Amino acid sequence: MHELSLAENIVKTVLKTDGVTVNNLQSLHINCGVLSGANIESLKFNLELVGEQSGLEDVDFVIHPTPAKLQCGCGYCYNSDSIFCLCPQCGSSDHEVIDGGEVSIEFVEIIEDG
Ligand SMILES: [Zn+2]
Repeated sequence: MHELSLAENIVKTVLKTDGVTVNNLQSLHINCGVLSGANIESLKFNLELVGEQSGLEDVDFVIHPTPAKLQCGCGYCYNSDSIFCLCPQCGSSDHEVIDGGEVSIEFVEIIEDG
């Protein structure tokens, strides 16, 4: 369900973008933060579903998993695929999440002179 509402929001947002229409949208690239809790397979499935309902059946939906950015208590910043990890600098598991919990539109490709 979470992925369905994400997919609906993404499609709605992209169709509101200047210059993007149902007819000229070619592909949609999405960043999916590994800590967002979104399942990539499920998100892709739902995007295709919502896309089809919105007249975007020929659009390529490409999802890029993006690593989380963490900052350790020692001040060191590092990327990780998981929140359960240790600081490569000092070995501590005490960290703050700086980035990586978001699903966002990276870029869209449109067909020129559609
Ligand atoms: Zn550290």
